[in-house]
Amino acid sequence: MGTTYGMLLKVPVSVNYHFTRRCNKACGFCFHTATTSHIEDLPRQKQALQLLARAGMRKINFAGGEPFLYPKQLGAMVDYCKRELRLESVSIVTNGSKVTESFLRQHGANLDILAVSCDSFNEATNTAIGRGSGDQVAQLYRVAAWCRAHGVRFKLNTVVNRLNAGEDMNAHVAALRPFRWKCFQVLLVRGENDDPAGATLRNAHKFTISDAEFEGFCERHRGQEGLVPEPNRLMAKSYLILDEYLRFLDRTGRQPSEPILEVGVERALESVYWDEDAFVERGGLYDWAKPAGETEGCGGGKELYW
Ligand code: SF4
Repeated sequence: MGTTYGMLLKVPVSVNYHFTRRCNKACGFCFHTATTSHIEDLPRQKQALQLLARAGMRKINFAGGEPFLYPKQLGAMVDYCKRELRLESVSIVTNGSKVTESFLRQHGANLDILAVSCDSFNEATNTAIGRGSGDQVAQLYRVAAWCRAHGVRFKLNTVVNRLNAGEDMNAHVAALRPFRWKCFQVLLVRGENDDPAGATLRNAHKFTISDAEFEGFCERHRGQEGLVPEPNRLMAKSYLILDEYLRFLDRTGRQPSEPILEVGVERALESVYWDEDAFVERGGLYDWAKPAGETEGCGGGKELYW
């Protein structure tokens, strides 16, 4: 296995495309902040997605910022990735507030997974985190129902932090029935949310928790079937991120690559570091497409370990 796996190290199997940094929320621990408002046009985005697919991409996740601030562009990319590029998995991560049923009606057939962030079922806590408008929870239930109605797997993402570490979310999570519930330990990312003196847009220091507090949260919810805990150890460097300028981000904090439309995928990948071993350990290659005909459910996805 060692040799085979070694040969695959620089293949961008799973890419997180953060195509905008703009967001309609202001979470205090956000680690992909609105440092620019740049966004590429759709033809360039498609060209880049095609290059990635040719280089071996099998899974794309659209993220931000908030991807649903650009629903037309997002929908066009989702359709292109599934219909033209035939990717195995197409997913979106969103804060949920701008998701509409008409988007899912139109693009649900080409979307495998919709992951919605929810850090609390208590609106006062959401407001304190920076995600408040008072209707986060009601909207979350609506989005979960739309996903079921339109054949998209519904996933929940929770950042466990100082303000929600003591919360008991069992009843809501059981009612929402996400096929996976990813719980991340709040993370400090250099240049994004790590400067208490204000040089970064956010300061996540006041939200951090100990490993023991994170484990306590996971222990309280271990009865939830879809729970996938993601401690800092696994998360920090394991995501391959393409930014709004179509550059790969270096996960150790060095300069990003050149844009892939200028230098190609291979050269761009050579210039950055991300931790593929941690990607595999955290289950990144598991369970990423909806089985044909599925409208909801959990755990039954294809296994793609090799
Ligand atoms: S909703 Fe997500 S992208 Fe927007 S500020 Fe919060 S963590 Fe950042």
